[in-house]
Amino acid sequence: MGRTSSGAVGLLCTLLCVLAGLCAALPAQARETLVLSGGDAVVGINPYLGYLHDAEGGLDAGDVERLQRADGFTAVPPGKNSFGFQSGAYWFHARVRNADSPTTRWLLVQQYALSDEIEIHARYPDGRWMTAASGDHRPFQSRAIRYRHPNFWLELPPGAPVDVYVRIQSESSMQIPLSLYTPTAFAEASRDAQFAIGLYYGILLALFFYNLVLWLTTQDSSYFWYVFHLTAFGLVLFTLNGLGFEYLWPHSPWLADKSVPLSICLAQVGVQQFARKFLDLGNRWQRGDRVGLLLIAAFALLGIASAFLPYRISVPIASAGVFISTGWVAVEAIVVLRRGYAPARIFLAAWAAFLVGTAMFAAVAFALLPKTFVTEYGVQIGSALEMLLLSIALGYRYASLRNENERIIRDGRQQLMHEVKARTSELQDALSQLGDAHARLRESSQRDALTGLYTRRHFHERLPALLQEARAQAAPLSLLMVDLDHFKSINDEHGHLAGDSCLRWAARVLAGTLRPAHAVMARFGGEEFVVALPGHDLEAATGLAEKARQALAGSACDSAETPLRITTSIGVHEVDLANDEGIDQALERADRALYRAKSDGRDCVRTAGEALPG
Ligand code: GH3
Ligand code: MG
Ligand code: MG
Repeated sequence: MGRTSSGAVGLLCTLLCVLAGLCAALPAQARETLVLSGGDAVVGINPYLGYLHDAEGGLDAGDVERLQRADGFTAVPPGKNSFGFQSGAYWFHARVRNADSPTTRWLLVQQYALSDEIEIHARYPDGRWMTAASGDHRPFQSRAIRYRHPNFWLELPPGAPVDVYVRIQSESSMQIPLSLYTPTAFAEASRDAQFAIGLYYGILLALFFYNLVLWLTTQDSSYFWYVFHLTAFGLVLFTLNGLGFEYLWPHSPWLADKSVPLSICLAQVGVQQFARKFLDLGNRWQRGDRVGLLLIAAFALLGIASAFLPYRISVPIASAGVFISTGWVAVEAIVVLRRGYAPARIFLAAWAAFLVGTAMFAAVAFALLPKTFVTEYGVQIGSALEMLLLSIALGYRYASLRNENERIIRDGRQQLMHEVKARTSELQDALSQLGDAHARLRESSQRDALTGLYTRRHFHERLPALLQEARAQAAPLSLLMVDLDHFKSINDEHGHLAGDSCLRWAARVLAGTLRPAHAVMARFGGEEFVVALPGHDLEAATGLAEKARQALAGSACDSAETPLRITTSIGVHEVDLANDEGIDQALERADRALYRAKSDGRDCVRTAGEALPG
């Protein structure tokens, strides 16, 4: 309430000052005497008041009494209880008569905590004066009852009327909500008020500690600024209610004065900073964020300046600033909400509760709404609701931030898994390509470049396995040594390239004949080939060799201008598995068989057995 109520009061006072000026011009009205009867317990004395503005502040009670008798007082217009910011002193007068009330000792209470100096001068029919003083420029202990509102004991014996003069001089606004209470009525009313105030500050305190702990545990600065805002706001109300003077600085009238503008400025710094953080203005609305910062700077400056400026200057400025600031917070929340920031909704609801409560309070001040519990305590109810909702909003915001973080982590993890999968599959592709390349390389290293048959080295590598297999399966294994006849003359007569073609042709023809028999063929060197025939004994191998020889003799190599006919000599040997014949020995015997074929005139097939021993 502090900010806005004080702001509302400031505005109200300005208007009322104008009214007051008008009223002053009206003729003095006859005022009634306030008559107290048996059933009265609480009586508002404003309808019976007249007032006099002592601009210099130099009149004493005697002067004022004379003026009063000379009709120098103006009746306070009905419903008016504030004159705004005024210089000098205001005197108020009421004539009070206790008709038949058994209570003779009444309490006069000024239900506004911030008046600087209040004096009461009671003039009794016997000519006696009773004088007392209070206000927040005097130590708190000087009050009749130690209570947040200034108060005075007033003896009102039954019978004759008593003239009561109240002198108020204050830097704060000139307010006169003056009432008379019986001691019992005052005890009851103050008990109810204290209970309501206790309830209100209880809520604020609970929220304070709850959010303080949340700030300490989460380290989210929004919680800090919430706590700051709540504390400063609580301080404003505490000050305006007179509780600051009662409990916090009872010996410092200076602080009692300065605490009003200072707490208003602090509260505004708090609310602006909290709104910036909560609404994430830095990211969501940078222009709005800059205005928020500007307001913070302005309130910080005004806060510092208010330590030196007189109350009547600093408070109206701060109050006007409060209007701008509270309105601006609503604008920020609406803009950010329209930009899709969901937590702003609860924030806006909280702010609306506060504004509605404050508006109700202001409406009461302007007499637009009747004074009921809800309207009178609108600011307290609205602000308690606001603080509660903001606390919920913080929780909601925290949850939505956490969900957002979890979503980011989840997405990140999925993305990572996706990339790992893609990289793994790329790696697998590369590995398989590498494997293929390696296989091709190995294959090509096993092959003779010219004929495409295996190399002699590879043949040597394969033979042990073939031998082992033959032994294991008890199957025969035969070897053929194939050599082209008079090949040198082909080279000599037709050139080396033609010779190469003929070598390729011979390999093709040999493969065509022998491969169906699962032959393993290699170029042994030059124009000589070696063949292993698994599962073929000497006879079968000889038959196949003969077939191959005939196939070569029966076709021609057509690489030269004229087709070339080439014959072959073939030596056949069946490996002697029974006697554990070795590879070298077996090859030598096959070679010997070939030698035999050459010696027998070439273009024939011979076996090792036919070869001469040794
Ligand atoms: P023989 O009937 O006694 O086997 O007589 P030959 O001429 O076939 O045998 P010789 O060992 O005297 O000659 C082999 C020739 O094969 C020698 C060489 O010019 C030829 N030769 C060896 N390797 C290649 C080759 O890769 N390309 C070509 N074009 N000729 C080759
Ligand atoms: Mg030859
Ligand atoms: Mg040869």
